[in-house]
Amino acid sequence: MKTNNDAYDAVVVGGGAAGLSAALVLGRARRRVVVIDAGAPRNAPAAHMQGFLSRDGMPPAVFLAEGRNEATG
Ligand SMILES: Cc1cc2nc3c(=O)[nH]c(=O)nc-3n(C[C@H](O)[C@H](O)[C@H](O)COP(=O)(O)OP(=O)(O)OC[C@H]3O[C@@H](n4cnc5c(N)ncnc54)[C@H](O)[C@@H]3O)c2cc1C
Repeated sequence: MKTNNDAYDAVVVGGGAAGLSAALVLGRARRRVVVIDAGAPRNAPAAHMQGFLSRDGMPPAVFLAEGRNEATG
């Protein structure tokens, strides 16, 4: 019998780049994952990301939205 205790294999606290990367890897390992995020990334004041290969100039919010889509998939 399934209980609430085994609804998820992992809980990731924080949905920034680190947490979403962890969720992506866990999902690919066929683990059921929930991400809990307060929605306050440390780089929120920055208009653009710099020096991040392949994402140079991208707004951080766009980067996180794409990361959430990728992890959800
Ligand atoms: C002003 C600024 C500009 C920057 N510019 C760049 C740049 O141009 N290029 C670059 O490569 N790097 C940049 N960085 C660094 C980059 O932002 C960080 O390396 C990156 O955000 C770290 O990702 P993270 O997932 O560890 O943390 P964060 O992005 O801070 O995400 C953590 C998330 O977890 C949530 N959280 C934390 N505690 C809890 C809790 N108890 N419960 C629920 N949710 C929680 C927060 O709300 C947040 O959404 C910048 C940083 C700052 C401060």
